[in-house]
Amino acid sequence: MLHEINIKTSREFEIVDITGDIQHLVWKSGIKEGIAVVFTRHTTTGLFINENESGLLQDIKERMGELIPKGVGYNHDRIDSNAHSHLRATLLLNPEVVIPIEEGELILGTWQRVLFAELDGPRTRKVLIKICKC
Ligand code: ZN
Repeated sequence: MLHEINIKTSREFEIVDITGDIQHLVWKSGIKEGIAVVFTRHTTTGLFINENESGLLQDIKERMGELIPKGVGYNHDRIDSNAHSHLRATLLLNPEVVIPIEEGELILGTWQRVLFAELDGPRTRKVLIKICKC
């Protein structure tokens, strides 16, 4: 089963918790044992699993900005001025995460959440979720 969720972001840099959307699709699928593969279809977004705590999310944003600052003479900026967004997506994040499913539930640690990072918003983004029995 392949599902798609739309994420409408409202800021240039935004982190969105999509754990609830994924769990809802797992329940709807009826699959009890398997994996959920979550994949973002964009080159200036990323996915990661961590704690959804406002101070930590602010720390992540600030450190990303320090590690890969905006507009410091990147080649790609000649095209559309968002090289920093592509670089943060490819060097600091991944386009996918995989979560095991047991007894119809995502198996995540107590503080783990599936987080979508918008790195070049605001935009409407598409994330694919494949739920597999295995
Ligand atoms: Zn670009």
